[in-house]
Amino acid sequence: MNETFSKLVKELQAIVGEGNATDDRAICTSYSRDQHWYFVPAKNPACVVRPGTKEEVRAVLMLANTHKIPVIPYSTGINVRGLTIPVHDGSILLDLSRMNRILEINPDMKTATVEPGVTFGMLLEQTQKYKLRPAFPDAPLTVSVLANYYLRGIYQTSAADGHDHTISYEMILPNGETLKTGSRALSEMPYFRYGVGPDFAGMFCAHPGTCGVVTELTAKLY
Ligand SMILES: Cc1cc2nc3c(=O)[nH]c(=O)nc-3n(C[C@H](O)[C@H](O)[C@H](O)COP(=O)(O)OP(=O)(O)OC[C@H]3O[C@@H](n4cnc5c(N)ncnc54)[C@H](O)[C@@H]3O)c2cc1C
Repeated sequence: MNETFSKLVKELQAIVGEGNATDDRAICTSYSRDQHWYFVPAKNPACVVRPGTKEEVRAVLMLANTHKIPVIPYSTGINVRGLTIPVHDGSILLDLSRMNRILEINPDMKTATVEPGVTFGMLLEQTQKYKLRPAFPDAPLTVSVLANYYLRGIYQTSAADGHDHTISYEMILPNGETLKTGSRALSEMPYFRYGVGPDFAGMFCAHPGTCGVVTELTAKLY
């Protein structure tokens, strides 16, 4: 690893803590392939960064943007198309699995607001207490709710897709600005699909990891 990159890892450690940014080869190799390894060539990220808060995500993105370093967001890494395998040398793998809080379950509005690391299993365990559940893909319960809905997952049991189950989300753009969709843009209320003006949720969804990092998503419960 060259000197410039070692300096960058130190800067990343200053943001997320020493134990949460590394260029250790064994750790980087563990992110180098997925189930489609036969079709998608394996490639190591140059380093793995594990932020714990959205402010840390913002700081990492701004640093990467300054140095023009590719960033690959990773929520649970269970996609089956090589979507989190680096394409370019020197990429940062941004593992969001530490951000695994269910921020709110609102039984009156029938909504749940989650961070990227929350899986369908984790969410179901909590929503069952209210006799509610999220819509499930035909996928392992270890998949990220946020990533699956943001990617517009499909569901064998219904014609609705992941975007239909999404009400609003918050995304941090590469320059550090925050995009809030639906009623989030007007107030702290995330419960309405549309705010005033155009539908930014539709414009920005299903661009896996290329437009920014989704840090919160509010979904419908049933
Ligand atoms: C056997 C199997 C069967 C499946 N069947 C289905 C099915 O029938 N229907 C269905 O909908 N799904 C299905 N899935 C699940 C689906 O593949 C994943 O939910 C989906 O690809 C997302 O995977 P993930 O949640 O692990 O996200 P990841 O693998 O972490 O990320 C997927 C993509 O989203 C980007 N990304 C991740 N997090 C963020 C973020 N916070 N902000 C911005 N971009 C982000 C990544 O960069 C990457 O490009 C199946 C999975 C398996 C293993």
